[in-house]
Amino acid sequence: QKLVILGGGESGVGTALLGKANGYAVFVSDKGKIKEKYKQVLIHNEIEWEEEQHTEDKIFEADIVMKSPGIPEKVAIVKALIDKGVPVISEIEFACQFTDATIVAITGSNGKTTTSMLTHHVLKQELDVGLAGNIGDSFAKQVLEHNYKNYVLEISSFQLDGCINFKPNIAVITNIVPDHLDRYDYKFDNYIASKFKITQNQTKEDYLIYDADDEVILQYINNNNIQATLLPFSLTKTIENGAYLDQDNIIITIDNNQIIMPTKNIALEGKHNTKNAMAASTVAHLLQIRKQTIRESLENFQGVEHRLENVLKINKVQYINDSKATNVNATYFALDSMESPTVWIVGGVDKGNNYQELYPFINEKVKAIICLGVDNEKLLASFGKMVDVIVETQFMSEAVKIAYKLAEAGDSVLLSPACASFDLFENYEDRGRQFKEAVRNL
Ligand code: ADP
Repeated sequence: QKLVILGGGESGVGTALLGKANGYAVFVSDKGKIKEKYKQVLIHNEIEWEEEQHTEDKIFEADIVMKSPGIPEKVAIVKALIDKGVPVISEIEFACQFTDATIVAITGSNGKTTTSMLTHHVLKQELDVGLAGNIGDSFAKQVLEHNYKNYVLEISSFQLDGCINFKPNIAVITNIVPDHLDRYDYKFDNYIASKFKITQNQTKEDYLIYDADDEVILQYINNNNIQATLLPFSLTKTIENGAYLDQDNIIITIDNNQIIMPTKNIALEGKHNTKNAMAASTVAHLLQIRKQTIRESLENFQGVEHRLENVLKINKVQYINDSKATNVNATYFALDSMESPTVWIVGGVDKGNNYQELYPFINEKVKAIICLGVDNEKLLASFGKMVDVIVETQFMSEAVKIAYKLAEAGDSVLLSPACASFDLFENYEDRGRQFKEAVRNL
């Protein structure tokens, strides 16, 4: 069997190794340059590869093609393969056939990484469990090298688009808001359907954990026949089977077995993180982790870099790095969780943002806005009349210095851009690191 892999990155090279170990003739083809460390792995394992080109003759010989999640379906070579009837699948789809581990798969528009890391953190106290998907070493590589008994997988909609038989024992959908619509013909419904592919092969022995406060999710579930056993979580309603908030306690009930956790002990702050904690502990409760272990793990989980990360307190001003907030919904929860007057650094590449849902927070908590982007017009038009101070800059160090001057004891300085980072930075990590460095230099 010939396995062709499009894209020589983490998931491509992992799949190549797993494919080779299972007897496939493997060929890796990348239209761009392959990173040196991956080239070395391919050479060392005698796997055939090419870069900066797609040799069609070789690619069309494939019995099966694994496409990296970053390559859109619209690309000519992918279209041609699909037209020819060659199965084009994702790494998750390929790798899942080589393990019989219990799979927890986590998707959603926001909160995937936080919920996946938190879930892994809780489970690893008592189980043999790997963390993969969009995080760290590829799932395929871990299946080959570790063969864990359980996996927590962070799954993007692009990975789900290439899934046919993937059947997670436990699926989590954190929330669904419009994102990446350029890959979905600008139709929100297509993107929603893609997220729900996580449930497509599930049966009633499997579980779907989801946010029951999310109207988009509720509507899809009402209108479609989901086979999995449903375990909703909610901040606003009482849930009999699933998780909900009763004043200051999270209550999780599964088949009459209840666990109660005071929210004040949860290390991660903000309503969105209460939801993430509900999702993670529902998974843990399902997998029979001891209640005490779940409680303790939520207390000592230190959070994830670039997600509402407390950087430093200088002159009683707290500096917070939320660079991963690349859409309005993520920033909504950041502003929602602010408990002090805030100097807000925002801006970057606009994704068709509508800022209206943030207006109540601006009135209530934001004392000054620093627009950090190449094009700040929309921000100025949206917020210009709402705050006393609104300024523009194209330099992170300058943004932080201005924030330092504006903030007084007891205030916070929040970087939560609500935009992509590509106008001024390499990626959101670069943006977050530059912020932290500028803060440390104050
Ligand atoms: P993803 O992996 O889906 O991008 P992350 O966990 O990296 O999600 O978080 C991305 C951004 O969204 C961060 O700014 C974070 O603070 C915020 N966030 C985290 N969880 C949620 C949630 N449940 N709902 C909305 N925003 C969230």
